[in-house]
Amino acid sequence: MTKRVPPRTTVVVVGAGHSGLAVSQRLGAEGIDHVMLERGEVAHSWRTQRWDSLRLLTPGWMNRLPGLPEPVLGPADDDEFLTAAQVASLVTGYADTISAPVHENVGVERVSPTDDGYLVETSTGPWSAENVVLATGSVRGVTPALAADLPPGLPSVHAIDYRRPSQLPPGGVLVVGAAASGVQIAAELQASGRQVTLAVGEHVRAPRRYRGRDIFAWIDAAGVLDERWDEVEDVVRARRLSSFQLVGGTETLDLNTLQEAGVRVVGKLAGLREGTALFSGSLTNMAALADLKLNRLLNTIDETVGGTGERPEPTRVPAPVLSASLTSGEIRSVVWATGIKPDHSFLDADVFDHKGAIRHDGGVTGPAGLYVTGLPVLRRRRSTYIDGARADSADLVSHLTRRLADPTRRTAG
Ligand SMILES: Cc1cc2nc3c(=O)[nH]c(=O)nc-3n(C[C@H](O)[C@H](O)[C@H](O)COP(=O)(O)OP(=O)(O)OC[C@H]3O[C@@H](n4cnc5c(N)ncnc54)[C@H](O)[C@@H]3O)c2cc1C
Repeated sequence: MTKRVPPRTTVVVVGAGHSGLAVSQRLGAEGIDHVMLERGEVAHSWRTQRWDSLRLLTPGWMNRLPGLPEPVLGPADDDEFLTAAQVASLVTGYADTISAPVHENVGVERVSPTDDGYLVETSTGPWSAENVVLATGSVRGVTPALAADLPPGLPSVHAIDYRRPSQLPPGGVLVVGAAASGVQIAAELQASGRQVTLAVGEHVRAPRRYRGRDIFAWIDAAGVLDERWDEVEDVVRARRLSSFQLVGGTETLDLNTLQEAGVRVVGKLAGLREGTALFSGSLTNMAALADLKLNRLLNTIDETVGGTGERPEPTRVPAPVLSASLTSGEIRSVVWATGIKPDHSFLDADVFDHKGAIRHDGGVTGPAGLYVTGLPVLRRRRSTYIDGARADSADLVSHLTRRLADPTRRTAG
């Protein structure tokens, strides 16, 4: 039997979320032949890995994508926060508008270097390409190792698989992690009638509105979002930092508002021993650090735009609670809101650091013609958000175009 010769293209883009599609739009504009391979449907993550009530924490004007008309900014653009379903439909409409060459239901299973680029093995057969752009998002929920010590039978779910309160049994819930996902899910569960205990480690606090405008309008005006990855003081830390405690809308969501709603706020989950959750005594420090950083951010805004605004009240730290029973009925389920990360395990190349993260310099990896996009602070702070894809895709495709124009270029193998 003869072996099938894989179809050849100049660029394979893996993943059809907004980041991959933005790259496709730029490649199309440069006339560069490419295909997009997507394991599910376009915007698969937004259809399958978000809870029902989720709204973007970024306002409508931050949904700009290359090739779409830019919104004419007005005050209302501060107040529009899309639901996950609306983001899925925005991204799907975008794929149609730019006529992206997406092959849906094609899972990429292995990418390996060859003499003339890369062999991309998929669930439906191989492709061959000189260049590969990984745009597979952060699709894997991270749970701490101590999760293995949960009492047998205690239901637990990662935020990536959480959909709605009715998914959990009645009774108290321990939510671990106080970034955007943790505080939003804690608020929703408390409002549904559960007693929520929220375990809080290092977190990033921000008021929803400041000086009469949405916080992102100021963060943008102060130039914070345009700080480049190679100018950020500690980019490794910046890339790991948790998301702002924010929820789409006009209301602030932080440890103070959660406590007003009845959520019990405790320190970081430090251990699980004999059916008891043990919390660290570091909450006071964590809250003080978050307040300090919040005031630094607001100082930066004030220094840039002039004047000052009313500062949020410092975080109110309750009397310490250092343990809670997971077996007496006090807590009947656990939600891990402990982060998400990419899954590049299909990549057969020497590009990973000691923590298993892909090494890259602003999205350009070591092997020739291998790029990655859609990661936090990839090329600028804005890269963390949908809005970052415009500039990131322009930079990466410009690098790729220069590479293709060089007759002496190396290939991966
Ligand atoms: C809970 C949550 C809330 C968020 N809130 C905001 C927000 O408020 N504002 C904002 O701007 N952004 C928000 N983000 C989105 C964040 O900006 C994006 O997730 C990130 O920028 C990555 O986008 P992406 O297009 O690279 O990835 P995704 O949108 O995740 O797309 C990746 C695609 O790759 C596909 N894929 C993965 N592996 C494979 C494979 N092996 N083979 C083929 N296809 C594959 C997936 O199916 C998926 O369709 C949020 C994300 C999460 C998880």
